[in-house]
Amino acid sequence: MKIFLKIIMFGMMMPLLYGQNLWAGILEDVMEGKASVIDLTYPLNDKNAYWPVGNYASFKYEVIANIKKDMVFSGRYSTPEHLGTHIDAPNHFEPNQASVDQIPFEQLVGPAIIIDVTDKTEKDQDYALPLEDILLWEKVHGQMPDGSIVLLNTGWSKRWHNFGDYKNMDINSRMHFPGYSKEAVIFLVEKRHIKGIGIDTLSGDCGNCSDFKVHHIINGAGKFILENVANLDKLPPKGVTLIIAPIKIEGGSGGQCRIWALLAK
Ligand SMILES: [Zn+2]
Repeated sequence: MKIFLKIIMFGMMMPLLYGQNLWAGILEDVMEGKASVIDLTYPLNDKNAYWPVGNYASFKYEVIANIKKDMVFSGRYSTPEHLGTHIDAPNHFEPNQASVDQIPFEQLVGPAIIIDVTDKTEKDQDYALPLEDILLWEKVHGQMPDGSIVLLNTGWSKRWHNFGDYKNMDINSRMHFPGYSKEAVIFLVEKRHIKGIGIDTLSGDCGNCSDFKVHHIINGAGKFILENVANLDKLPPKGVTLIIAPIKIEGGSGGQCRIWALLAK
């Protein structure tokens, strides 16, 4: 009889144990103060960088009700999708690919690795991450896990508060800032099965790369690009879990997103 009771008790506790397992890992560590969170998102305002070509425009915010006059505070805003910290959905450069609202949650969370090329970009503003830099990173830190999100720290965040310096346009209207190379992203997609890439500049392609090869390769493989990512200089090379929460614009080509990096203490 005693054994019978024990079995029933164990059965009753199973859901509790299972519930705990759902929260196990880094999220549980965050809630218990054992892991820290770094926000990789710039606050949205009218100074935010956007793609400075064609019909793109700056972020606009307007108060439409205030507490003193209307007893409630409320605003409205307008923005291009590709402004500030944002995601390029797979349909941004390739047809028949997912729009921003269709990217599955599983693709928006995962381990992140951070490649630091700040010493290279000081000498070469047009630096396009070569494959060798990825192989060198793996030599030092070990092979990145399959399904990683690769983040490139180019040091460009130092220019964030000056849009002129950030887009770095020459007299021929060509921009100069670092990006990824075609060879690097082909390797990441084909050999490391990444979920997506990110960078602290206006684009995954370097500023004076006019053919958007990186965008075509990444988007053609159903992957995303995070642009104008903040605080990459505060992250270690690995041991980071990323959570990306994009705005759900039906059929959109991308949009503003909140990005959190979770780090074990
Ligand atoms: Zn974009």
